[in-house]
Amino acid sequence: MQLEKMLKRFRVDKPDKFRLADYDCADTCGLSIDKADAKSMLTDGVQRLAEMQERLYAENRSAVLAVFQAMDAAGKDGAIAHVMSGVNPQGCQVHAFKEPSAEELDHDFLWRVAKSVPERGRIGIFNRSHYEEVLVVRVHSELLAKEQLPSALVTKDIWEDRFKSIRHFERHLVRNGTRVVKFFLHVSKEEQRKRFLARLDEPAKRWKFSMGDIAERKLWDKYMAAYEDMIRATSRPHAPWYVVPADHKWFARIVIAAAMGKALEEIDPQIPKVEGEALKELTNVRKALEAEGPSSGK
Ligand code: ATP
Ligand code: MG
Repeated sequence: MQLEKMLKRFRVDKPDKFRLADYDCADTCGLSIDKADAKSMLTDGVQRLAEMQERLYAENRSAVLAVFQAMDAAGKDGAIAHVMSGVNPQGCQVHAFKEPSAEELDHDFLWRVAKSVPERGRIGIFNRSHYEEVLVVRVHSELLAKEQLPSALVTKDIWEDRFKSIRHFERHLVRNGTRVVKFFLHVSKEEQRKRFLARLDEPAKRWKFSMGDIAERKLWDKYMAAYEDMIRATSRPHAPWYVVPADHKWFARIVIAAAMGKALEEIDPQIPKVEGEALKELTNVRKALEAEGPSSGK
């Protein structure tokens, strides 16, 4: 299957009609990791990203913000590590958003996010993001209570209000040269169960296990409803959501690398050309260096 067609399948272009149930967590578009084509797609995607990132950095005008959201053990961290593995670390910034600090709670929910968006020329990765504010905070009302909002603002409309703030914020970023692309790593409840068991079984993975993850697992249906609502409300052509099938980690990585590659290709960053006076100056520098002759090593 062509990359473009594959991406279209997972990009939410018609948010009004979006239903999570229409997306299969184990989808691989007929690819198999045992076959050469999948393997070459994995390596080609990373290489293409690395090349495009170099151009983005050299041009220093646009930025890319990639948002990652998922249930625990969906493979977010591994996917980020894989996809960015070829990219020069200087051109990439990863932010992991944890529970907000006291200082962060004393500001509006976009404050800490706005401070962390990528600079021009960079790829910014959000490992969790402002979307936690309509996911975990929606599922756990006690978290909302901690946010110290004036009570008149905490109404049944609060989630719609937040969606609107998020849409406007992302639109603003796009208008100012930051491209936004969002990934929901869609893992099935059964696959999560298997991965939690593997974490318990393997001593090297046990540190990853957290009792909190089991508590969230019990709220699975509430989370899925929140994800569905969120994607409907915030997938827009300038800042689309991709629902990435995540039961097969290798396939999720192919999809993410391809979607990020596409975002960069649409920016089409250009390496600045050295011309005119500046080029003349370089010619003079070359002449001077050549005239010095080989150095004696002192
Ligand atoms: P790992 O894969 O290592 O477990 P993680 O992303 O799950 O990584 P944790 O430190 O386990 O990192 O979890 C971060 C926690 O912070 C999550 O439970 C998440 O829901 C929570 N969190 C993030 N942003 C917010 C927010 N705005 N409000 C409340 N909780 C938040
Ligand atoms: Mg965790």
